[in-house]
Amino acid sequence: METHQKANASSDVKHLDYLIIGAGISGIGAAYHLRKRFPESSFAVLEAMDGHGGTWWTHRYPGARSDSDLYTYGYSFKPWRGRSIATADEIRAYLEEVIEENGLTPHLHYGHKVTSASWSSQDRRWTLKVLRTDTGETLTFTTGFLWMCSGYYDHAKGHTPEWPGMQDFKGRIVHPQHWPQDLDCAGKRVVIVGSGATAATLIPALADSVAHVTMLQRTPTFFSADPWAHPLEAPLRALDLPEEWTHEIMRRAQIAKMGEIVRMSFEQPEGLRAFLMEQARAHLPEGFDVNKHFNPSYRPWQQRIAVIPDGDLFGAIRSGKASVVTDTIERFDATGIQLTSGERLDADIIVTATGFNMKFFGGVPFSVDGEAVDFTQRVTYRGVMIQGVPNMAYTLGYFRWSWTLRADLVSDLVCRLIEHMRQEGRSVVEPTLSAADVDMPRLPWMSSENFNAGYVMRAQHHLFRQGDRHPWKHHMEYAEELSILPALQPNDEALAYR
Ligand SMILES: Cc1cc2nc3c(=O)[nH]c(=O)nc-3n(C[C@H](O)[C@H](O)[C@H](O)COP(=O)(O)OP(=O)(O)OC[C@H]3O[C@@H](n4cnc5c(N)ncnc54)[C@H](O)[C@@H]3O)c2cc1C
Repeated sequence: METHQKANASSDVKHLDYLIIGAGISGIGAAYHLRKRFPESSFAVLEAMDGHGGTWWTHRYPGARSDSDLYTYGYSFKPWRGRSIATADEIRAYLEEVIEENGLTPHLHYGHKVTSASWSSQDRRWTLKVLRTDTGETLTFTTGFLWMCSGYYDHAKGHTPEWPGMQDFKGRIVHPQHWPQDLDCAGKRVVIVGSGATAATLIPALADSVAHVTMLQRTPTFFSADPWAHPLEAPLRALDLPEEWTHEIMRRAQIAKMGEIVRMSFEQPEGLRAFLMEQARAHLPEGFDVNKHFNPSYRPWQQRIAVIPDGDLFGAIRSGKASVVTDTIERFDATGIQLTSGERLDADIIVTATGFNMKFFGGVPFSVDGEAVDFTQRVTYRGVMIQGVPNMAYTLGYFRWSWTLRADLVSDLVCRLIEHMRQEGRSVVEPTLSAADVDMPRLPWMSSENFNAGYVMRAQHHLFRQGDRHPWKHHMEYAEELSILPALQPNDEALAYR
């Protein structure tokens, strides 16, 4: 009853020229660009959580850090002053500086969860229903242009498969996305199920204090033992150059390196595989079965190559405090996990580092002129807008390259679109299929040949599609998009303006 009263308590409608949803690295970047390009316009960032950072707000497990370098994962406009690889706290602090230095604080509304978005062609605006998570009120916002920066996964619930006997386990089962701040692993036997970047981060962070930590993987992952600090960093900083220069030089060096690895992953995958395995061998104890535990069945970069700074995961294994088991789970029991091979793993704590549930557009139900939008029936316009959905852009970054390289490109494009509309006196832009494109094949948003991480494959059928031709494709490579998105003219014929 009380909730109901609260929900009806506010009938005010707040209108803003632009609304950004999500205060992660994409949303804060989008806000920076909007404020810089259109200082006289009104805008707000609505964020469901109680603070900024998105991924870096949600993930608070021990050791949480980037595996991209911050020269490219950070923004082009804000120099990074730390080591290449950064912890979650350092990334949040960097974002805080961006917020403060650019006067973004008054635009950020935390604890504001968008629950629906409806477009009216008559009013030429979006109406958003928004739940204030602290009071339970439902607020109404309207806007001329909606920019979804809500990431790609469900922040509220990580992915945990159901294994037989889970309820019998007497210890604690935790998902890294919901790490209990009171969880004490000291002296405990910890089994981490999964072998992605999260497992690889947790293991060295826990190894010193636990009795033992085991990474239980069904299949191996590629790891790259990059340094925490790029070797160019210290000499460049010693030159005392303007920090913008250092940032730009490091950024270019990192882009070149990333580009080379991505190129090799397509053109010389076996060469790259051999290199990564050799690197693992060099870090691991003699006789360690590298082929069994660190040689995936897919080609490098068909799933993420996880960075382990200075080879810290391998170091933890070398120390004897961590081990890797490649096997499958038959069942949980009161004291651990029974494996299909007949082996068992005793555990006090089991961490299910088993990934995400993908969720685009924050799971918000969309409608256009009263009709629910079924995204699975729509194609993307260049990975930035959706066919038939007016005045709505979204930011999704790269999976193989640093996310923010794409977020920056998208921000620039969206601002140029808005600028064009203002100059031309248009209030609506809608990606529209030409007669020639109407019957083109609808392909999955991501082809499994390109990138087949489990979280993407599990979710494909819920996601929007891409076409087999421009501009209805979503590019995944910075090296290609760098010459496409910045060159794109807002009068692209697939964009219908009204
Ligand atoms: C542990 C971890 C490490 C990673 N490391 C890297 C890395 O090193 N390099 C890299 O390139 N990528 C990395 N990624 C991928 C990472 O998610 C992206 O790099 C990037 O952080 C995504 O930023 P974002 O702002 O687009 O989305 P998110 O960080 O997911 O933020 C989205 C925000 O939108 C909010 N939101 C969602 N729905 C709603 C709603 N309905 N109403 C209001 N607010 C809403 C969420 O609460 C959240 O704060 C990592 C991911 C994880 C989980």
